[in-house]
Amino acid sequence: MRDTVFSGDEVRPVVIVGSGLAAVSALEGMREAGYSGPVVMVGEERQMPYDRPPLSKMVLSEIGAEDKIFLRDQSAYDALGATMLLGRSVIKIEAGNREVSLDDGTRLPYEKLLLATGSRPRILQGLSPSDPGVFYLRTLDDSIALRAALKDASSLVVIGGGVIGLEVAAVAVKAGVSTTVIEAGNRLMARAATPQLSALLEKVHRQNGVNVLCGASPTGFAFFNNLHAISMADGTVLEADLLVVGIGVVPETSLASAAGIECGPAGIVVDGMGATNVEHIYAAGEVAHHFNAGSGGHERQENWHHAAAHGKHVGMSMIAPTDAYREISGYWSDQYDLNVQVFGSVAGDKDVVRGDIEAKSFSVFHLLNETVIGVTAVNAPKELRTGKQLVRSKGQLSN
Ligand code: NDP
Repeated sequence: MRDTVFSGDEVRPVVIVGSGLAAVSALEGMREAGYSGPVVMVGEERQMPYDRPPLSKMVLSEIGAEDKIFLRDQSAYDALGATMLLGRSVIKIEAGNREVSLDDGTRLPYEKLLLATGSRPRILQGLSPSDPGVFYLRTLDDSIALRAALKDASSLVVIGGGVIGLEVAAVAVKAGVSTTVIEAGNRLMARAATPQLSALLEKVHRQNGVNVLCGASPTGFAFFNNLHAISMADGTVLEADLLVVGIGVVPETSLASAAGIECGPAGIVVDGMGATNVEHIYAAGEVAHHFNAGSGGHERQENWHHAAAHGKHVGMSMIAPTDAYREISGYWSDQYDLNVQVFGSVAGDKDVVRGDIEAKSFSVFHLLNETVIGVTAVNAPKELRTGKQLVRSKGQLSN
């Protein structure tokens, strides 16, 4: 086993576990808050921190697009004074000694520790992930491997009609691959989309040639002669060269829970500053079940805006006193000629539609007790801006 990389008489660094957007934003937040001591970022993936949204869009369809997705260049990390340990994993936290162990035996003491470990794909039971032609999409390596496979494929079955599944289907069918989407729920993207948007997505995917099956679940899988056979609950059998599974993600809490940090199914429990129940240890981004002062409760968000905002907020809170986190976030998705933007919550008690759904340019304002709590904008950037203001100000709609 190697010695610690920082000996006892040196200043202990802040250690960030994870190298995604939340991690990078936290690093910047710490510096902005005036911290000038050492920071070490440990990332499992060997690539410099990169942006994930393009993985199910541009990277899948364009060779070389991977070169354009890095969050910052090396000079930015040099300027931020961060030591980047990439392709390395933290395998253990010893909170008592304030030390982490890496997979290569290195022990790294910390002054403060930030867990920005994100999520991992939910695994579909009954399907061997190691069978040829079976893909999950989370990392840059996954995306590049799927892009290569799509080049030679003639048919694809996507399991899960969520954001990942639909973005992959749009790219695949455009590339001439015969594509079926199997969605367990009775409409597409139900978790994140309003019914009007689900209906439009289904229509546009069908118009582009995707076979959309809602309320459908696979019951068994077989693989022979390089072909997957997917048995469905209604007795039909689908065949495909490739299978992509996009059935959601789970927060990557294993390291934290093994160290006795309070975790639940929705992630590592943190307060409005990102602090866990263990002194000197924080969590940010998708892995954090965080207190939001705006909603007055704990929530977990899976989107780019949240990773950026929460990462930065927790980074700053680790260094200097701040107000509790209260950001509202949203997501976007690009499918065919649809640019979908959602901000706030879609779970209101009334929807007000403005614009023309048939013309694919419209917005839906989501109201709860007459107050705007969210907005969905499809090819409607001005409406999105108005909606964001209304959501932030807890406004009401005037005609
Ligand atoms: P989602 O949760 O968005 O969607 C998963 C879908 O799969 C749900 O509709 C779910 O239905 C369905 N499903 C679950 N189990 C089955 C099953 N056995 N058979 C068929 N369907 C099933 O997750 P994704 O995997 O699409 O995305 C993962 C993460 O990546 C999310 O955090 C997402 O926000 C993020 N992402 C963000 C993007 C963006 O911002 N543009 C782009 C791509 C991904 P049900 O709800 O009924 O269980």
